[in-house]
Amino acid sequence: MKIKSLEPFILHLPLTSASISDSTHSITHWGVVGVAITTTDGLTGYGFTGTHAHLASDRLITACIRDCYAPLLIGEDANDHQRIWTKLARHPSLQWVGRAGITHLALAAVDVAIWDLKSKKAGLPLWSYLGGARTERLEAYNTDIGWLSFSLDDLLSGSARAVEQDGFTRIKLKVGHDDPNVDVRRLESVRKRLGADIRIAIDGNGKWDLPTCQRFCEQARDLDIYWFEEPMWYDDVESHRLLARSSTIPVALGEQLYTVDAFRSFISAGAVAYVQPDVTRLGGVTEYIQVADLALAHRLPVVPHAGEMSQVHVHLSYWHPASTILEYIPWIKDHFEEPADVVGGVYKRPEQPGAGTTVLAESFARFGKSLA
Ligand SMILES: [Mg+2]
Repeated sequence: MKIKSLEPFILHLPLTSASISDSTHSITHWGVVGVAITTTDGLTGYGFTGTHAHLASDRLITACIRDCYAPLLIGEDANDHQRIWTKLARHPSLQWVGRAGITHLALAAVDVAIWDLKSKKAGLPLWSYLGGARTERLEAYNTDIGWLSFSLDDLLSGSARAVEQDGFTRIKLKVGHDDPNVDVRRLESVRKRLGADIRIAIDGNGKWDLPTCQRFCEQARDLDIYWFEEPMWYDDVESHRLLARSSTIPVALGEQLYTVDAFRSFISAGAVAYVQPDVTRLGGVTEYIQVADLALAHRLPVVPHAGEMSQVHVHLSYWHPASTILEYIPWIKDHFEEPADVVGGVYKRPEQPGAGTTVLAESFARFGKSLA
């Protein structure tokens, strides 16, 4: 299974709404930026990272794959995921310019493609290739009903639809208005509409500071918030440690962390309760496993962030013993041969060989962007 060729790609896929916003970002498309790797035995593996469909920076990722990584990969045995990962991530000249950011997002795409190849070669879905399913039932939580840009009416009707029609028992709502009282009132309305049995998590996308978060948590303490995700700036370990100590609402984070070392800093400080790795920001499946094992060693639950909209994480969550529930955002699933589908609030277990990353040919044709 020698690597014969690599073909980077950029797709910009429309969302389920015309546009959405959280406290920090406003987008109209999700970027699927990655690489198809073909081997001498005729297999093709697909891997990608997730972006905000910003073409200029997407092209930096594909340029890194094409110009920096491809020459290191041609002729390598695609079975050797760890050797390949180390060769790319610890290449002295590339390590010098990026242990995070563009080079790491490009590494994620390559590594996921390698795992897609390995499990396709074995003829098994990735979860089975890794060692088998830990559960028969992987519960999903719905994020796509709770954007900050939604009016209160839309928030209420979307949440009710997710619970009453689609069978979700868990949802996540965005917070982060300039006035946190607005968020408290929105949460009170949704809690009142859905009742006490539905699990409601919230996500601040890193906007507020520590005193704002502490005041907000005090006001929201009776709303049974399942977790408070990314309450503050992504890299600020100490403020998250202080918030975790001062509030009864558990802290969740990890979607903006690039390395196992960053996760270790938060975990060892007691600054995170729900660990949220993402294969598209970490260096792929290889580094994701290191983070999930680290969480397991600390008896912390793993709830991945869906930067690949759960196409890969559905495999990892059915398999890894520290996994619990999994995020659901249905923006891109229908562009894959085997969509990460949810029925009655539960993820269907994938059955096709590979990592769930094989993009449909017609999606390449319709939504592909020029790499130039
Ligand atoms: Mg988030």
